[in-house]
This record gives sequence, structure tokens and C-alpha cells, in this order.
Amino acid sequence: MEFCGLNPFCMKLIDTHSHIYLHEFENDRQAMLERAEKEGVNKILLPAIDSETHEALLGMEEKHPGLCIPMMGLHPCSVKANFREELRIIRDYFGKRPFAAVGEIGLDFYWDKTFTEQQYTAFHGQVELAMHFNIPIVIHSRNATDECIEVIRQHQLGKLRGVFHCFSGNTEQAQQLMELGFYLGIGGVVTFKNGGLDKIFETIGLEKVVLETDAPYLAPVPFRGKRNEPAYLKYVAEKLAALKQIPVEEVARITTENARELFGL
Ligand SMILES: [Zn+2]
Repeated sequence: MEFCGLNPFCMKLIDTHSHIYLHEFENDRQAMLERAEKEGVNKILLPAIDSETHEALLGMEEKHPGLCIPMMGLHPCSVKANFREELRIIRDYFGKRPFAAVGEIGLDFYWDKTFTEQQYTAFHGQVELAMHFNIPIVIHSRNATDECIEVIRQHQLGKLRGVFHCFSGNTEQAQQLMELGFYLGIGGVVTFKNGGLDKIFETIGLEKVVLETDAPYLAPVPFRGKRNEPAYLKYVAEKLAALKQIPVEEVARITTENARELFGL
């Protein structure tokens, strides 16, 4: 770290998706952040889930301004019968202060399809919120890639931008998203054997890729199955470097530039 100012190869990384405000980090949060900074992670974007954790999320920004950057939104898995009240809380926050993005929002048909219709309503409403404030959206999709692409397509009149977090679709879907102006959030899954993501990088480049951990979930190899944290972002960068056969510093430079561009950092 001490040599970063002089060393042109010192990597700067941005973790574009990290839930480090959750209780999984309550015992070592400060040490975890120090490890991240040591590995060159100098910005961490925090996607919201629902009103149970909004305060913890905003508390991270208060303690670590400039490092921890909050988004605001309602996660599709938190879309239940009370979702209109949750959306009202989100709108109230947006009335008070700016956020880097509306997220994470989207569709999740993996666990439960009871609230499918409400998920769509919440998703559309929050896309419109992002367009109103001219900020990006951060999409969470599970078992719903084509459905999410369709929602983006309906709203894309040239102004909507965002990232498809934890992208795990195929090459064709990746290309559709990039044509719609969207970025692909790539994390630990790219290091998994049979993760399937190595295939898409045979065809697509890094011009629309941003890095993410999704901490505490989806830790990359060699920590697969353990708690994930922003310091592990380098394993994702290293894997992409190997797949694209370019230096890891180049992966860091491109993806950091992409994240800055997308989120206006
Ligand atoms: Zn997330």
C-alpha cells in the first residue's frame, strides 16, 4: 500500500456489489475493511435489501465516507405483501439525499413465485425511479435472465443504464445486455469449475464488465463456500486476466474505469 502512489502497477479495484453492512461482518468489520484497502479496493458499493438493513447500510457510509457508497432499493426476495410500504420508504430516502444507484432490484423466481406479479410491479416502479433521478439500476436476477432483459428493453429509450449483477447467463444474453447499454457484474462464480462463465469470455471482452464480490456470498476459489469479503476481489480479477490472457493490472484498470463511468464515481 505504501508504494501505491509511485507504483504504476499498483491495482485499484472497485467492488461494485457488497453487503458488508450485514451481521456476518459484525466481529471483524474494521479488519475486513483494512484487508480490502491493502488489496487495492478503494471503493465499495453497497446494494440495499429492505428496510431491516437500510440503517446499517447508511451507517457504513457515515463511518467510512468515500470508501462505502450506498445504493437504495428493494431486493426482489423482499417483495412481499407489504411491498408498497417498502417502496414508500425508499422513495422517502430519495427525497432526502442522493444515491449512487437504485439497487438491488429485479426478479427472483428461484425460491418463491408467490409474489411474481408484485415483483414485476416493484421492478418497473424502481426502474422509473432511477430514470427520474438519472442514476443507474443494479439488477438482481435469479431464474429470470430473459424476463429481466425484457423489462430493460421496455424501458430502454436510450437513457436507462445499469449493471446486471452476478451475471450468469449465456453469451447471447450477455450480448443482448451490452447492446442495451448494460454492464455485466462479474464475481466469484467466474472462478468456479462448471460456473459456465469462462465460455462467455471466449467471445466477449471487458469493455462492459465491472467486478463485484456480492459479499458475504459467493466467495471465489480458493475460498469457495466460506464468507466472502471485498479483499477477495483480486481472485476475480486474476481469473479474468487468465481467461482474457492479459495482465491483471489491465483488468483492474478497465473494470475500475467502467465502474467509475457507470456510477459516476
Ligand atoms: Zn446482492
